[in-house]
Amino acid sequence: MLTVTDLDLFYGDAQALDRVSLAVAEGSTTAIVGANGAGKTSLIRSIAGILKPAAGSIRFRDREIAGQPSHRVCDLGIGQVAEGRQVFPSLTVRENLEMGAVIPRARAGAKDSFARVLAMFPRLEERLGQAAGTLSGGEQQMLAIGRCLMGKPDLIMFDEPSLGLAPALVSELFRTIRTLAADGMTIVLVEQNVAASLKVADRGYVLENGRIALSGTGAELLADPAVKQAYLGL
Ligand code: ATP
Repeated sequence: MLTVTDLDLFYGDAQALDRVSLAVAEGSTTAIVGANGAGKTSLIRSIAGILKPAAGSIRFRDREIAGQPSHRVCDLGIGQVAEGRQVFPSLTVRENLEMGAVIPRARAGAKDSFARVLAMFPRLEERLGQAAGTLSGGEQQMLAIGRCLMGKPDLIMFDEPSLGLAPALVSELFRTIRTLAADGMTIVLVEQNVAASLKVADRGYVLENGRIALSGTGAELLADPAVKQAYLGL
């Protein structure tokens, strides 16, 4: 469904991605793991159309999307839950959710999407009139996911969704990710929580210094001695 081939990205003279290639099958969950600064966020942002790669290809379904603007990528069906949640703090929960449906592909079905999001996150329904900035961290993460779902994506990219969440909320977040996957959503997951993300992943890629160092099924990577030592503290 999504195929990245030989992607290069630079910040000025500094190369952040070096010939990165990966493939995401429709309906699968793909984990991208790596140390701080390995290039995970740069990769997600390149796919999302926020950063412009210097070379390489990003194909989504039958289209080349490398270098396309982010609103276009979003409208083709790639949603993103950015690092740090990024809700609009002074807008209400309802307004934040409505913002998720402004792209053309989402407008027609917005009412149904709204009902589906509230069914998934009942806590948001109780807080519809509340300013998003007054929600707890966990509720803001639900809102960020709900807003993304309002855009009716076929593929969702999560960038460090568990960052800063209490352990109980991290479990809840992973339950949500499993539910979305079970419903057929295609998921790309960047997580510092390497063990948990490889457990839910059909496939995983290890990024090191902007390069793919290893790839395999989630189970293969979990059992890999180098992964165990570098990322699982074993
Ligand atoms: P983290 O987990 O810390 O977010 P990451 O794996 O997501 O790490 P990136 O944020 O993609 O890594 O960063 C990859 C490299 O690019 C790092 O060396 C980083 O310092 C550099 N970098 C990231 N953003 C910029 C920027 N705006 N300008 C210059 N260099 C940047």
